Amino acid sequence: MSGETQIRIIHGAGVSPGRAAGPTVRMATAAGEPARRRATVGPEEATDAILAAATAVADDLTERAGHTEGTAREVLQTTAQIAKDPTLVKDAQRRVREEQITPERAVWEAAGAVASQFESLGGYFAERARDVADVRDRIIARLLGAPSPGVPQREEPYILLALDLAPADTAQLDPEVVRGLVTEEGGPTSHTAILARALGIPAVVGVGSGIEEVAAREVVLVDGGAGEVLLDPTAEQVEAARERVRTRSFDPPGRTQDGYRVALLANVGEVADAEPAAAAGAEGIGLFRTEFAFLGRDAEPSVEEQVEAYSAVFAAFAGRHVVIRTLDAGADKPMPFLTAADEVNPALGVRGIRTCWQNPDVLDHQLTAIARAAADHDGPVWVMAPMIARVAEAEDFVAACAAHGLETAGVMVEVPSAALLAGPILARAAFASVGTNDLTQYTLAADRLLGSLAPLSTPWDPAVLQLLQRTCDGGAAQSRPVGVCGEAAADPALAAVLVGMGVSSLSMTPRALGDVGALLAATTLAQCRTAASLALAADSAEDARRAARGALPALAELAL
Ligand code: PEP
Ligand code: MG
Repeated sequence: MSGETQIRIIHGAGVSPGRAAGPTVRMATAAGEPARRRATVGPEEATDAILAAATAVADDLTERAGHTEGTAREVLQTTAQIAKDPTLVKDAQRRVREEQITPERAVWEAAGAVASQFESLGGYFAERARDVADVRDRIIARLLGAPSPGVPQREEPYILLALDLAPADTAQLDPEVVRGLVTEEGGPTSHTAILARALGIPAVVGVGSGIEEVAAREVVLVDGGAGEVLLDPTAEQVEAARERVRTRSFDPPGRTQDGYRVALLANVGEVADAEPAAAAGAEGIGLFRTEFAFLGRDAEPSVEEQVEAYSAVFAAFAGRHVVIRTLDAGADKPMPFLTAADEVNPALGVRGIRTCWQNPDVLDHQLTAIARAAADHDGPVWVMAPMIARVAEAEDFVAACAAHGLETAGVMVEVPSAALLAGPILARAAFASVGTNDLTQYTLAADRLLGSLAPLSTPWDPAVLQLLQRTCDGGAAQSRPVGVCGEAAADPALAAVLVGMGVSSLSMTPRALGDVGALLAATTLAQCRTAASLALAADSAEDARRAARGALPALAELAL
């Protein structure tokens, strides 16, 4: 995906719009395995150095945990605990004394022993083996005087360059400091991309070897809308990017220029997201990703804990509509208590609603918690299941919800079979919400996390669009509403196409509400329908996009 033109631009996949300029800082990668060499210092000095490095790493992680919340905080606290655990330090110190090897080699070997003990225990402990490796790399970096792996901690704003970001790294991104993001790998619907969009950090992913040229520059300009990194921006371009703030706000309710109602809703991933989403004017929540309350846990949270977490989100949307999704464990969201670590193809494995086949209690507990939280909510609560693939699954889910008094039960359409069977599925389920991230992944057979497949990972692909139309037709035949909650809903032009197909609600990262709302307000339903039919008739994603955009004159007026 990398290339260079005369005006010195590196191309990748633009996954989070906006322009940002600044100095580049490359994320340090781990130093790797140190050679087995004799120590050049005495055992006393070496054992002290190991203890000092481990303590500094633990202190650093604890301090950082103090500045974060939610999942990020838990990840950092767990890692700090491992750095504090004397087992690792004592074993490394014993190795320098008995074998006279370098402190960094001793830490490497001691961590290897700890990690394999964890691995042999399986489940939760096997998960911790990864954290041991993280701690090991941090201690070794300290011992070698090298930069610590992970997101660099700086005061001054910068553009972060990385191979890709691990969940623990993305959890630490501070948009005030990390102004732009460029990754060598990573696909457009990866969770890195979703998080960058949610934080409003302009991002270009999958630039491949082009990252080297970006890293060689002092200052670059990231254009997350165009998917470009300008290598030698002019002073004016840098200044303009610094001043540009995306401030288009959303004035609810969502409607087209001629008054056709389209509910504009927010995707919410954790409790902390709910207040800002409500403040951004979202008419409700179209996708509450409940798995974020379960991630990083070694056991299922109790019903009480779940009630508390869901109620906190519902409270931010008092008087408004909430669509809550049951647990989507597996694949990119592994949960040790529910999903096997050794599946060959996790994206095609036991994920989403399938996890309840072996663990029906988890769904039962979750529906109990949702029903309790919903009872106190001032507004409608709809429940939907991820990864529904067959009519019978929809029927079973609706029955399970009804047994908990949850009357409005729907399905996510993320698998092509569900789109093709939307008619019979919606004869049973009350509504459908299309998850275009997974629907694209499964339609094109392209892993959504893989940067090298980014050209395939676009919901503009006519095959995806035809499945979306088929879903809308199934909904219309059964008089059931069809919404979209995948990232497609956040692209203003595609949002108009979806409305033209018959989609009645669009759920997105709250930052996108302003642009999507503005485009719809300046576009008629007839224009949306024309854009949809042109896109559906195209032979490629590029042609679909071009044709649809050509039929939406408001895009140019609004500079979208
Ligand atoms: C989707 O697949 O489009 C979706 C909304 O679900 P997630 O991104 O959480 O898999
Ligand atoms: Mg999905």
